[in-house]
Amino acid sequence: MNLVDRFLHYVSFDTQSDELTNMTPSTPGQMVFAQALAEELKQIGLTEVTLDDNGYLMATLPANIDKKVPVIGFIAHLDTSPDMSGRHVSPRIVKNYGGADIVLCAEEDVVLRSTEFPELLHYIGQDLIVTDGKTLLGADDKAGIAEIVTAMEYLLAHPEIKHGKIRVAFNPDEEIGKGAHKFDVKAFGAEWAYTMDGGEIGELEYENFNAAVARVTFKGRNVHPGYAKHKMINSIRIANQYAIMLPRWETPEHTEGYEGFYHLISFEGSVEKTVLTYIIRDHDRDRFERRKKELEHLTRKINNEFPGCASIEITDQYYNMREKVEPVMHIVDLVSDAMRAVDVVPQVKPVRGGTDGAQLSFKGLPCPNIFAGGLNFHGRYEFVPIQSMEKATEVIVQIARMAAEK
Ligand SMILES: [Zn+2]
Repeated sequence: MNLVDRFLHYVSFDTQSDELTNMTPSTPGQMVFAQALAEELKQIGLTEVTLDDNGYLMATLPANIDKKVPVIGFIAHLDTSPDMSGRHVSPRIVKNYGGADIVLCAEEDVVLRSTEFPELLHYIGQDLIVTDGKTLLGADDKAGIAEIVTAMEYLLAHPEIKHGKIRVAFNPDEEIGKGAHKFDVKAFGAEWAYTMDGGEIGELEYENFNAAVARVTFKGRNVHPGYAKHKMINSIRIANQYAIMLPRWETPEHTEGYEGFYHLISFEGSVEKTVLTYIIRDHDRDRFERRKKELEHLTRKINNEFPGCASIEITDQYYNMREKVEPVMHIVDLVSDAMRAVDVVPQVKPVRGGTDGAQLSFKGLPCPNIFAGGLNFHGRYEFVPIQSMEKATEVIVQIARMAAEK
């Protein structure tokens, strides 16, 4: 099967994940897909094909070289976003895209317009796979899966390309933040790996946020408002006082690049009790720690004025993989070299979020993220240029080749 047919076949599986089921995989469709994929991996000639009860599928492309070469891995996720249905995906190929708006669904007036999505114009002359405007496409991350499988098939068909042992893994539930949770890094047995889960062509990522969540609780004292003088403590007003002490511009809507923020995601209160929930994000570990200290400091300040009123609970969520990747920067340089070898310009940029690769990096498997080619993830405007998928496949082949040359 070729790359495009493979991709179109994969998106026919409904693998939408669900944060509420508390199962792994979170939805049965992911296991159905994993089973079909396991059969395909065997059929193209991969070995050590294993699928565990949690839906983690792994396989091996054996080395075809005598010298000792590091075992490397490629990883993509089986699930699609809970944000939008991935059932009955009905993709269409727009050949030789000319730059005009693309009508995805006429009756519902769903149109992919370059005024809203200017990136479209980067792909004039290419072939785009788009949705019918009713579901997401699932290029996130079935493009990544199709690229990895096609690259493995290519390497099997071209034994003149020398490579070490390559491991591949396809995991469930990335979109609900659990893709790395039950990933058996030891069984995978790679020295390092790459997730094929980035967006546009050229994307290469090895930095992500450090992340924590803070819950600040304010206790008040309710009294009949007519007789409340010197008695009432209104926790809503105190919480509001707390919220405005934080730097006004350090919020998601005012930051980009390497700028971190405090994000107030919920404010629930009554006179008696108010709870503020913040997420804290920063690429820099020191600044991240300082942000947490600042929240604690403000909590103490409130308590100086209203003794015993405020309490805070901070939980770290994930960390920047940079600290795990920087000591082995050659694994990033290898990707840049592989991209240039196939005429792709590497675009290194920090992820303003987390990745499965970050969690895997902290589990001992350094794991930068490489483009899979798609755009407008998680919705009906998702599309993927076929030429970007082809380049991603070539990048995988080059990485395999170059890792054996070093
Ligand atoms: Zn993804």
